[in-house]
Amino acid sequence: MIDTSKNILQLAQAGKYAIPAFNIHNLEITKAVLETAEELQSPVLLATTPGTVKYMGEEFVIGIMEAARKKYSIPFEVHLDHHEDVDAIKRMIDMGVGSVMIDASHHEFEENIRIVKEVVNYARPHGVLVEAELGRLSGIEDDMSVDEKDAIYTNPDQASEFVERTGIDSLAVAIGTAHGMYKGEPKIDIERLAEIRKVVEIPLVLHGASGLPDSLVQQTIELGICKVNVATELKNAFVAGLSKHLTEHPNENDPRKYFSGAITDLKKVVADKIAMCRSAQKVQV
Ligand SMILES: [Zn+2]
Repeated sequence: MIDTSKNILQLAQAGKYAIPAFNIHNLEITKAVLETAEELQSPVLLATTPGTVKYMGEEFVIGIMEAARKKYSIPFEVHLDHHEDVDAIKRMIDMGVGSVMIDASHHEFEENIRIVKEVVNYARPHGVLVEAELGRLSGIEDDMSVDEKDAIYTNPDQASEFVERTGIDSLAVAIGTAHGMYKGEPKIDIERLAEIRKVVEIPLVLHGASGLPDSLVQQTIELGICKVNVATELKNAFVAGLSKHLTEHPNENDPRKYFSGAITDLKKVVADKIAMCRSAQKVQV
């Protein structure tokens, strides 16, 4: 195993590309992501929300990761996405996850800092990367739903203080992206991102990138985004491929066959996102 995972985001920052973080939900999606990433020699993160961990089971999430280490040579880690339960994060760190997001962004500033610091203090001796969020994205993710009127953009001055006081490895920014798919034209505050970049040196993370034009995401990468989350588009590709296969073969009862159509579509999305992030051929030894 090539252990470049501890600085996977710093390498991306230095190389001006981003690590794609794909939300996985089962074995089929996990394999489609890792096979494509291996073919393209791209480092990746396998993101799991609390809902996914509950659905798959903590032991299975870790077990699949450990099995995958034997099969794939690219740097990858399981990343806990939008986790709020500090005890669950600590438990998963003990079990072997390499990257976690503690999302205390719904708390007020001081409380957000206090909770994030507790996770950083626990993660640091384990060499685990910690991401936290300042600001609030609109949209729906897992059991979390935020109205557009309740979305809060990241304040650059607060961001600087937040990073300094928490000691996090990466910061998720709210610059107008939304979880889920966009209904209208997305309005992304590129200037705000540039302002944050001026005062925050650590890798920045873009949530809610589904449906954004590649050129816009690449513009954010040039301004310091080092990790791009991909969830909705993967789910859409999986269900579209699956329903197409079942429509064409209504009597099919073999999961090995009906999943195969879904996996082909899924791998194409994974390859497109790796191209968007410019992370292909970025496995560094
Ligand atoms: Zn998110």
